[in-house]
Amino acid sequence: MNKYKIIIGLEVHIEPNTKQKMFCRCQQDHFGKIPNSNTCPICLGLPGALPYINKEAIEKIIKLGLALGSKINNFSRFYRKHYFYPDLPKGYQTSQLDSPFCIGGELLGKKINHIHLEEDAGKLVHETIDGEKVSLIDFNRSGSCLIEIVTEPVFNSVIEVIAFLKELQLIARYLDISNADMEKGSMRLEANISLSLDGKLPNYKVELKNINSFKFLEKAINAEIERQSKALNSGEKLIQETRGYDEIKKTTFSQRTKADSHDYRYFPEADLPPVELDNSEIEKIKLKLVELPEVKRKRFAEKYKLSKEYTEILILDIKRANYFEEAFKLSPNLITSIANLMVNKNLDKDFSEPAGLIRKILELTKVDYANSSDVEESISKVLYENPDVIKSFKDGKGQVIGFLIGQIQKKLNGKGDPRIIQQKLLEKLHE
Ligand SMILES: [Zn+2]
Repeated sequence: MNKYKIIIGLEVHIEPNTKQKMFCRCQQDHFGKIPNSNTCPICLGLPGALPYINKEAIEKIIKLGLALGSKINNFSRFYRKHYFYPDLPKGYQTSQLDSPFCIGGELLGKKINHIHLEEDAGKLVHETIDGEKVSLIDFNRSGSCLIEIVTEPVFNSVIEVIAFLKELQLIARYLDISNADMEKGSMRLEANISLSLDGKLPNYKVELKNINSFKFLEKAINAEIERQSKALNSGEKLIQETRGYDEIKKTTFSQRTKADSHDYRYFPEADLPPVELDNSEIEKIKLKLVELPEVKRKRFAEKYKLSKEYTEILILDIKRANYFEEAFKLSPNLITSIANLMVNKNLDKDFSEPAGLIRKILELTKVDYANSSDVEESISKVLYENPDVIKSFKDGKGQVIGFLIGQIQKKLNGKGDPRIIQQKLLEKLHE
C-alpha cells in the first residue's frame, strides 16, 4: 500500500464536431487531409489577418457546461497566451483566462473548476528524407476549436480518472458535441499529479502530457505515482515540471520545468470582441439538451429492471437506447429476448426497424403468430379502452402508435406480428 495520498487534477481537451475552425472558415475536421490544404491566412497567423468567433463552438461549450451544472458566464472574453513553438505561427494561442464560458460544475461527484474555449495548434511530423532527419509542419489542425475542461485536484486514483473520462465521453456523444475518441485524438488529456503525506495539496505538481489512450493513461499515471513515491521515500524534493511517458522504458521523463501562468504574458485578445450572452440565449440552448446518460441509466434501471451490465451496454449509445425503447413499446412482454439479442448478438444492427427485430425474436422462439381475428379483437378492445389516446392520434401525435401496439401485444401475450398489428391499427384509426 502506498502511504501517500494521490492527488490528481485533469485538463481534458475535447475537439468539438463544429463545421468550421475556431476563428476562420476552414474545416474543423482536419483528419486525413493533404498536409497544409486546410488553411487560410487567419489560421496560418499571417500578419493582418483578422479572426472572428465561431458561434457553433460557443453553443457546444454552453451545452456541455449546462449538462455538467456549470454557471454560464454572461460575459466572456478571449486572451492571447504567448509561447513559442514551431506549430504555433502567431507566437500565441488564443485561449481564455479570467472569464471563460463556464465556471464550476460537477461530474460523478468530482468538481470542475471551469470550461473554456481555445484554438488548437498545428502538428509537427518527424520524418527521414534521403537519410536526413527532418521536421515538417502540418497546419491543417492549426486554429481548430478546442473545449478544455479543467477539474479541481479531486481524483485519488486512476480508477476515478477513467470513470470520469468515460462518463464525460458519453455525455459529449449524447449532446452531439464530439465523438471524444481518445484514439483518434478528439479527446486528449493532461494530468497534474502530486503525492501528499498529510492529505493537503503539496507545493508542487507534475504535469503529465500527451495522454492519448485509456491504456496509456493508466500505465503513465501509475508510473508517475511510483516515481514520485520512490523519490519522496528517499527524501528527494519534487519539483514542478512537465513530463512525458516512455512506453518502452515504462517510466516518465522530464520535458521541461513547468511555466507559471505569468510566464505566458496573457493579454486580452484585441482582435476579438468580448462575448455577451443574455439569459434568454442560454435558455434557448438549454432546450436543446437531451436526457443525460446518468438520468437514462436510472430510468432504465427502474423501468426495465435489467441487470446493471445490460443497462450499461444499452445506454452506451443513444441510438441503441432509443431502439431498445421502441422495441419494448412494440412488445413489452418480450423484453428479456429483446435485451438478450441486442446485447449478446447485436441484432439491432441487422434490423434497421425495431419491428424487424421483434419478428426475428418471434421466429427464433418459434411462436406462432396470433391469428388475424385475435389481432382484430385485441385492437378493438385497446381502442375502446383508450379514447384519449385516439384523440391524441387524431390531433397529430403519431408517436402514440407505439403505445397502442404495446397494449395490443399485451393482450396477445406478445404473439402478434408488429407489422400486421401496425397496419390493421392504422386502418382502424383512419376509419
Ligand atoms: Zn483557416
